[in-house]
Amino acid sequence: MRLFLRGLLILIFLITTGMAAHGESDLRTESFPKVAKQGDVCLVRASGPAPLKSIHGEFQGEKFSISFNNETGTYEGLIGIDMSTSPATYEIKVFVTDGDNRVYSSTLSLRVEKVDFGTQVLSLPPSMVDLDAKTLERVNQETRKLEALFQASQNERLWKSVFIRPVGGEISTGFGLTRIINGQRRSQHTGVDLRAEEGTSVLASNHGVVVLVDELFFSGKSVILDHGWGLYSMYFHLSEALVKEGDLVRTGAMLGRVGSTGRSTGPHLHWGIRINGARVDPLSLLKIGTP
Ligand SMILES: [Zn+2]
Repeated sequence: MRLFLRGLLILIFLITTGMAAHGESDLRTESFPKVAKQGDVCLVRASGPAPLKSIHGEFQGEKFSISFNNETGTYEGLIGIDMSTSPATYEIKVFVTDGDNRVYSSTLSLRVEKVDFGTQVLSLPPSMVDLDAKTLERVNQETRKLEALFQASQNERLWKSVFIRPVGGEISTGFGLTRIINGQRRSQHTGVDLRAEEGTSVLASNHGVVVLVDELFFSGKSVILDHGWGLYSMYFHLSEALVKEGDLVRTGAMLGRVGSTGRSTGPHLHWGIRINGARVDPLSLLKIGTP
């Protein structure tokens, strides 16, 4: 009985500390933040015995990439908590194969809390809200094009630890607000709007490949960067794009200029982030790298 209790205590210890209950492994996993909110980006950090043959994570049934970061000496991956994720406790799993082909796993609990994003009341010309059949077809086509783009990310990690704000301005419309347009409840705001003068330089948030330069109905002149591993950043309503599809850009590279193209009520930058399809708050990405 005593032995059983001791075994049970050790098991509880291993589970609560996130250590793999296998062999001599001291695989440790942590998430930043420890408790997430809807729309958060979470950094998953793993440390353990080197050298490893392979490492990857799993969250909500989807695989995510983890790699060694020389700057921190740990393994890192990013997960996105979509803005509509139900508040609950989720599991993050990390799988490791060592040099002798032994497989270890570690499970981490992540609580996701509800956010009251609020609402925003807007008045727009009816032609920008109640779309005619032809415009609706255009919008649907553009949506499909973007969704396909978000499925085809670079396998390689191009982003470095620190992300930057693409323009300096303050937030004019926050992330997640439900829009009440011309009296009708519409979709949520999937990015943040940053206040900036027309013509202000828009900078790349991180290293990436330009995967889209286009004129879209809602987003106007748009640039999208693929940072690898399913992470994308979007820059909308530009007056001018200064890059072309296929360009490799570094953090801080000039992508274009602030404008008011597409469905916009004045010059600003709409900055959006997607991680493996999840719509997340760009501001939570700025905290990554400084947990
Ligand atoms: Zn916006």
